[in-house]
Amino acid sequence: MKAVFKFCCTSKDGEEKEEKGEEIVKKKTTEEEKEMARTISFITGPQLLSLKRLPTIAVVDVRDDERSYDGHISGSLHYASDTFSQDIPKLLHEVKGKETLVFHCALSQVRGPSCARRLANYLEESKEDVGIKNIMVLECGFNGWEASGRPVCRCANAPCKESESA
Ligand SMILES: [Zn+2]
Repeated sequence: MKAVFKFCCTSKDGEEKEEKGEEIVKKKTTEEEKEMARTISFITGPQLLSLKRLPTIAVVDVRDDERSYDGHISGSLHYASDTFSQDIPKLLHEVKGKETLVFHCALSQVRGPSCARRLANYLEESKEDVGIKNIMVLECGFNGWEASGRPVCRCANAPCKESESA
């Protein structure tokens, strides 16, 4: 399984934390992999770059403090992983009308997939039709996005109001 989670990511400060978390992901694979495969898919940076102009897509950054000093994907919402579960109702209110939610953290190995799964489980349990059709995770996360030269916004707004920024 290791190769699946290691392929193209550029590690920065978040590396140690994410490496430890990788162990958690590996232990969960048996029963949860099926669940995740059914409801959550991955999207690459180039795919997201072309899709994110659509009005029906929302990017959800679940990094914690790093967002404030590392910049962020323009137009992204911020729901820190620490408090994600309790903020799900607020998130659903904020993304009304969106069909696709793309989650990411620094590397999208631990916090991003975990929050995406928490949302998928929440929707499954609530049976509420909120119009969300796709729950996705950005491959390699923010660090991969930034390392390949894609636009990073450094504004201090939450949510970010920029639609495109260099
Ligand atoms: Zn911004």
